[in-house]
Amino acid sequence: MTAHNNETQLEYCVNTTECSGCLACVEMCPDLFGWDDINEQVIIKKECADADEVAQAMAYCPNDCIESPD
Ligand code: SF4
Repeated sequence: MTAHNNETQLEYCVNTTECSGCLACVEMCPDLFGWDDINEQVIIKKECADADEVAQAMAYCPNDCIESPD
């Protein structure tokens, strides 16, 4: 776990095998997640993000495929 700007930051990733492409994470956290139209999969936009944002995205993912190694 690393700290930047006095906020807790978490690494995060998406298990693309489990991802259904519902785009909930992209709509909720567009600064963290994007959508690759060519490969039709979620793009991770940052190496790490605010822990609360990551936790929120994890909670809303219907397939539990947003993961954090921390
Ligand atoms: S919310 Fe989960 S299932 Fe939906 S696009 Fe994001 S990672 Fe994939």
